[in-house]
Amino acid sequence: MNLQNPGASSFREPGEHPQAIAPRSSDHDVAIVGAGPVGLTLALWLHELGRDTVVFDARPRTRLADDARVLALSLGTWRQFERLGLARLLPATPIRTIHVSQHGFGRVRLDAKTLGVPFFGTVVRAADLIAALIEAAQTRGIPLLDGTPVETSEVQGERIALGTPRGVFLARLCARAEGRLSGETPDVVSHDYGQSALIGWVHAEGLAPESAVERFTPQGPAALLPDHGQWTFVHVLPHGEAGQAAALPDAAYLERLERAFGNRWRLGGIHGRAAYPLVLRWRRRPVAERTVWLGNAAQTLHPVAGQGFNLAARDVGTLVELLREADDPGSAWTLERYARRRTPDRRLTIGLTDGFARGFLPREGLIPLARGAALFALDACLPLKARFAQQMMFGWR
Ligand SMILES: Cc1cc2nc3c(=O)[nH]c(=O)nc-3n(C[C@H](O)[C@H](O)[C@H](O)COP(=O)(O)OP(=O)(O)OC[C@H]3O[C@@H](n4cnc5c(N)ncnc54)[C@H](O)[C@@H]3O)c2cc1C
Repeated sequence: MNLQNPGASSFREPGEHPQAIAPRSSDHDVAIVGAGPVGLTLALWLHELGRDTVVFDARPRTRLADDARVLALSLGTWRQFERLGLARLLPATPIRTIHVSQHGFGRVRLDAKTLGVPFFGTVVRAADLIAALIEAAQTRGIPLLDGTPVETSEVQGERIALGTPRGVFLARLCARAEGRLSGETPDVVSHDYGQSALIGWVHAEGLAPESAVERFTPQGPAALLPDHGQWTFVHVLPHGEAGQAAALPDAAYLERLERAFGNRWRLGGIHGRAAYPLVLRWRRRPVAERTVWLGNAAQTLHPVAGQGFNLAARDVGTLVELLREADDPGSAWTLERYARRRTPDRRLTIGLTDGFARGFLPREGLIPLARGAALFALDACLPLKARFAQQMMFGWR
């Protein structure tokens, strides 16, 4: 087997000494596949534990932060970034109130102060988050091999061997955070929503700063998240309609977007439009021999409840807790405990997200009335509201 030490990677600032970022050896405790927000968050936590870690990414360094998405980070996720010393470096906007309503009747208003928290979470741009994570990884000397796709993996006794164009790397655990999950993979549950999410930024006249809005329409949900005095929108439509809407001139599209929000706010200054097709895919078992899947590689969710990265951050939190005590980070015992501990929160979050994505679509019969009544009941019952907010902020515990 070719056990090459790649030496210095191209992941280096001009003038920086190569030794600072060169892998210490090609045999590591943990190898992380994917330097997206999930892989990098795990890398920082493993560094805190003193675990010898290497991170691979297929993309060159200059493209790692190419991500137009804007993420609502729950309070639980934000606390993780505070503990990692990252929160103060991140440009973020807090969410203090959330309005939820549907086309027709039924609405809920969630207010952080009333529910005893300073804010529900924060809104950050994925590109800013990734840039801050990369900088933190670099400062800590975590080896990050960009432009290095992991092409093969093979368990060899107590190690897993990862094949890359730079040679073969050995690790005791491989954390796969490569951001995708094929529907063809055995053990993967898959559903195509037949929808796309249009995203971008707007100004919203009359909407209080630090307020977020979620509106369920018969075509799909639409959300506004506060982002430094403007709002980022996520507008979900069936594929065909999304294609047509994406091609509309700004003024016509803004009218359409205003309608989606019940013409409650005047929107303007639209920019940065992009589209994402939506699927649900999740692995029943996020572990295999010496392997754990995390983030979108473990579960890819509809963005309706803003839970994709937040669920991944909780997965990472549990894994790190278990690795704190483990001699062998890739032992079957550790991975089995991880899978068992994460099952309730994963299943509930996936189920709730899928329920929101599909349950608000029917517009005929008694279903919209039942939904409206459920929203009013949630609005009127503080303990129920608090439980719901807890789930969204911290997951099942
Ligand atoms: C419209 C939209 C809005 C969203 N809003 C929210 C929100 O508000 N809140 C929230 O929590 N979540 C949200 N999400 C979900 C969130 O964006 C994802 O869960 C998260 O970005 C996934 O991160 P990741 O690190 O798993 O994957 P990615 O960011 O895709 O990173 C994967 C990395 O792996 C690399 N890679 C791939 N293959 C290989 C290989 N073979 N070898 C080496 N490297 C490889 C890639 O180059 C990439 O850099 C939203 C999603 C969408 C589509």
